[in-house]
Amino acid sequence: AQLPVQSELEHNASHDLLTGLPNRLFFERQLEQALAHAQASGDYHYAVLFLDLDGFKLVNDSLGHASGDDLLVQIAETLRANLAGHCLVARYGGDEFTLLPHGACPRGRAEQLAQRVLALLAGSFEVRGHRVFSGASLGVVLGRAEYRSPDQLLRDADTAMYRAKAGAKSAYVLFDHAMHAAARARLKLETDLRFALQRGELRIFHTPIVDLRNGRVQGFEALARWQHPQRGLLLPDDFLNVADETGMLVGMDWWVLEQVCENLLRWQRRMPAHARLRASVNVDDRQFADPNLVEHLRSVLLKTGVDPSTLALEITETVFRRGSDEAAQTLHGLKQLGVSLVVDDFGTGYSSLDSFAASPFDALKIDRSFIRDMVTNFRHRAIVRTIAAFAEDMRLDLIAEGVETAEQAGLLRDLGCTMAQGFLYAPALPQAEFEALLESGFAQQSNSSPSAVA
Ligand code: C2E
Ligand code: CA
Ligand code: CA
Repeated sequence: AQLPVQSELEHNASHDLLTGLPNRLFFERQLEQALAHAQASGDYHYAVLFLDLDGFKLVNDSLGHASGDDLLVQIAETLRANLAGHCLVARYGGDEFTLLPHGACPRGRAEQLAQRVLALLAGSFEVRGHRVFSGASLGVVLGRAEYRSPDQLLRDADTAMYRAKAGAKSAYVLFDHAMHAAARARLKLETDLRFALQRGELRIFHTPIVDLRNGRVQGFEALARWQHPQRGLLLPDDFLNVADETGMLVGMDWWVLEQVCENLLRWQRRMPAHARLRASVNVDDRQFADPNLVEHLRSVLLKTGVDPSTLALEITETVFRRGSDEAAQTLHGLKQLGVSLVVDDFGTGYSSLDSFAASPFDALKIDRSFIRDMVTNFRHRAIVRTIAAFAEDMRLDLIAEGVETAEQAGLLRDLGCTMAQGFLYAPALPQAEFEALLESGFAQQSNSSPSAVA
């Protein structure tokens, strides 16, 4: 027979000290057995439910860790008291619990269980004199022949749980093939992106910025594109998030900036008519928060020899929302390098006009959403008119983006806007096509309004 102390040690290794529930290790061992049993019998009717509390962090942060512990113990007790006869209930870690139903568990039963769990946790708990609500998000995975290890199941359960959290909270989501495919595609994109820079798949496209009064190209905005070997030309929306999450975004932005500076200088030198050509580069919020931003930009300017007054950085209003002195300092540091600062997507960030008046910006770029329907939408036209008046008083340049029709261009000119970009003039162009456009000096208007091109 086992010595009492030995069985106690074994119990401690397989159970969570706080709640007394089986722990992650124990759960994974049981799941491994269930998997082996399914493989042997060819009956894949098992399931895993992965539960994450919605309100735990709030309780922990506001009432303290001891209260957080209390809540976990009560939730563990609730789950055990109501479900222990039907499934293995484990504390997987932190505020995560996992369930492995005993016996066959086809889809219907798994969903019933999920609903039961949500109902059990929907009410309030009494924690040290406070009524707290937690609620939970659940990911549910059903057994399949492809699953070889507990890791794979738990990863998919976790994916489904995050879907549940992202949607309406206190819900469950069943992991399905589409999610599996999406997760795999996403992983592939991440690996591909790691090689994209090395393989030279990243491209810069150019959107001409024209003078509304005479149609002349004044400069361009640089936009990143990824020439993916299988998927074709990808837009920033397709890969900027992945780049961010893999920590590659800032490096990518520096690459863009350097390339743009090199091209800009070459064009300025080669084409006398464009000796003062201007380039505009997007600076992501995360790049803006980089403490080395100013120093790094200084070195790029030195290295490429570009005249800083012909380079503009586009920064969104959201940098103000942090309301920090750091943001103001960075802006002044950039300004001292001699570059222009443009507020991108102006009008969408809800920051106070006062913060702009006090900041060293040179230009505002009115967001596309106001331009799109300004001809028919009175409110948006009024906003554009107000922004134009504000810019004039503050002596800021004004650029309209997303101009698609000659009517919009005419209206903007009447409102005092001097510069514009958009499909009316040209889509974002690869290098060679943009060079050809520069040589001609004018952006071709697609629904040609001769007065603006002449
Ligand atoms: P953004 O800075 O507001 O860029 C303008 C977007 O509007 C571009 O989309 C451009 O192709 C599109 N556009 C231009 N003219 C028109 C038009 O007349 N009509 C319509 N419907 N759209 C027009 P894109 O290239 O997909 O870029 C999306 C966003 O990705 C950009 O928004 C910018 O925030 C970001 N981005 C692009 N390149 C870079 C980059 O190199 N670095 C960073 N950090 N962000 C970038
Ligand atoms: Ca921009
Ligand atoms: Ca914009």
